[in-house]
Parts: sequence; structure tokens; C-alpha cells
Amino acid sequence: MDQAKIITVTSPLLPSLEDFIPYLQDIWERKWLTNNGHYHQELEKTLCEYLKVSYISLFTNGTLPLITALQALRITGEVITTPYSFVATTHSLWWNGIKPVFVDIEPTTCNIDPTKIEAVITPKTTAIMPVHVYGYPCDIKSIQEIADKYGLKVIYDAAHAFGVTVNGKSILEAGDMSTLSFHATKVYNTFEGGALVCHDEQTKKRIDYLKNFGFAGETTVVAPGINAKMDEIRAAYGVLTLKMVDDAIEARRKIALRYKDALKDVPGFTYLEDIPGIRHNYSYFPIFVDSEQYGMTRDELYFKMKENNILGRRYFYPLISTFSTYRGLESAKPENLPVATKIADSVICLPIYADLKTEDVERIVEIIKIGLCKVK
Ligand SMILES: *Cc1c(COP(=O)(O)O)cnc(C)c1O
Repeated sequence: MDQAKIITVTSPLLPSLEDFIPYLQDIWERKWLTNNGHYHQELEKTLCEYLKVSYISLFTNGTLPLITALQALRITGEVITTPYSFVATTHSLWWNGIKPVFVDIEPTTCNIDPTKIEAVITPKTTAIMPVHVYGYPCDIKSIQEIADKYGLKVIYDAAHAFGVTVNGKSILEAGDMSTLSFHATKVYNTFEGGALVCHDEQTKKRIDYLKNFGFAGETTVVAPGINAKMDEIRAAYGVLTLKMVDDAIEARRKIALRYKDALKDVPGFTYLEDIPGIRHNYSYFPIFVDSEQYGMTRDELYFKMKENNILGRRYFYPLISTFSTYRGLESAKPENLPVATKIADSVICLPIYADLKTEDVERIVEIIKIGLCKVK
């Protein structure tokens, strides 16, 4: 076995260059590089079909749809959100001048705990921004009940949840809007890219104005929009890679199964189980380390893996609420976020991607089992 080979936490889904060249030739012939071109329209159409949604708007990355969703729904004041996510979730609130209010998470799913939401609602609260962490669905029903009771909007950060369905229905239908990221590290990528899903034509129109400076016609500007459009090269690439994504998810499923099988007897380790009725996308494979039972702390294991050229990632550590911008907030205090704090201190995401080799999975499993020697 090649011990020197570096295994990263992910590796992008890439088609062959040969397959992509005809798309480039076509773009050169059309001479239409951006602004709702042929491939932009085609990708919106094929994504609607694939994801089982009615309205989608493409973006140049996965952060701008978050920022734009808040603009489109005219969200102000305070928004309730989770500290256990990638920083972009909370940053999108900050960029809109909105105060984030952090709520703790559920230990079983790592998603926002709906039973803790009502206690932090104030007259200034206008929305809830949950995240389907690792692609595991939030408690959509409970969140919606609270939103309806208090007249709040719900924007889901679904950056991890590409292709996830609940009883055959897209997870992206939940709430008022959902955002996606097509960053290189995600299950489905367009190098950089993203999308915003909404549920009616009028709203889609407003989103499309907002992502193009607010232009509603050649000489009409209806809103203070931004430039967040996806160009033709990435849209064409997206059309091509969409054809590969089902196979990629299936390959990820098999790797997740192998990890679960190999790690089920390791004391002090837990991982997320599949939930009946959910089509998972296996975007991440987080494990949670109980150092006493396992014999090593999370960080000891993390560095052990690193020494062996296996680059797991501690998603999501540190919590967003600990960063300098946010840590002064009352809701950011660790005593208000005990579950998130504990999980952030115990998590490592193991390498998982479509072309991760079986022998590499075995090597990773072996390294992880090292912690056991200390126990015995
Ligand atoms: C990746 C990610 C984003 C941001 O997406 P970009 O495409 O990198 O801008 C937002 N939220 C979450 C939870 C993410 O993982």
C-alpha cells in the first residue's frame, strides 16, 4: 500500500475533458457568454427535473443565494439560526445588517433544535435560517409550525442537501426558499456555483432581477440588485456533470456502508444512520469521537490521521458563534449552546467521494482502529 499518498476529505466530481470540449466549442459558436444564455436556461430546466422542484435560479456561488434570499423576502431585524454550519450561513445575515440569534442543535441530526426556537423569538424576529447539515433533513414540520404561529419566513441553507428527498419529495420544497451550493467540494459542482429554489413564478422573477443588478428591462431597474449570475461555461459544465451525479451518490453510499460496517464495533464512535424514507446523498461521513471510550481525543485522532496523510476535516469546528464577529452576542455564549459545543469538539469528517478507492477506505479504517490499541 502506498502510505505516502495523500487522501483528502473530498475530491471533485469531474467529467473527462474530452466530454467537455464539444460544449466549449458550442459556446464559442454561439458567442453568448453570460446573461441567461442557452446553457443557463438548459441547466435551470434540467435541475428542476432532477431535483423535483418548480422554480430555480442559478447563481455564481452558494453564498449569494443566501444573501439574495434575505433581500428577496425583505428580511430585517433578527433571524434565528444555527451555530453548527459553514460560516457563510451566518455571514449572509451580517451582510444584510441582520442580527443572528443562535439556537442549539439536536444531538441526533446536528440540525437546529426546534424545541429551543420559541424561547428566543422577540418582536424583531422575522425569519428562521436552518441548515440541513450533512444533508440530513431538519425537523421541517416543527419549524414550519413555529414559523406559521409567529408569522416568520423560513430560508433553508440546503448547501449539503443536493438530491435529498423525503418520501419521494424534494427537501428543497420546505420553507419559503432553499439555497444550494455547487462549489467544487460539494456532491454536485460547477467549479463555483449555486442556486436558489422558490415556489412561485413571481418570486423567481424577483430573484432573477436581484441577481442581475435589479434590471427588469433595458432601461428599468426595479431593485438594488447585485451581480450574481452564473456564466455559460459553468452552466454547460453543470449540464454535463448532472448526468454523472446519480452514479456518484451511489458510489458514496457504498463507501459510507463500508465505513459503517468497519466501525460499528469500535467503542466510542458514533455516526449518522440512514433514515427510512430519505434518499441521502452521502455528502459527508462525520464520525463523533467519545475520547474516554475510544482512547484518543478527537484532535489526537485528527493529527494521527494527518501524520498518515489522511486529511479528515473537523466540520463544523470551531462553531460559527465563536468567531470574533459573533462571539459578543448573548446567544453565542457556549452555555447557551451545549450540544453544538460538544459535537463540534468530537466530530471528524472522513474522506468520502465518488472515486475514493476501496484500498484507501481500508487504509483509513486501519488508522482509525489504532485508537483501540490504547484501550486494550
Ligand atoms: C458550501 C456551503 C455554503 C457556501 O457555498 P459556496 O458555494 O462556497 O459559497 C453555504 N452553506 C453551507 C452550509 C455550505 O456548506
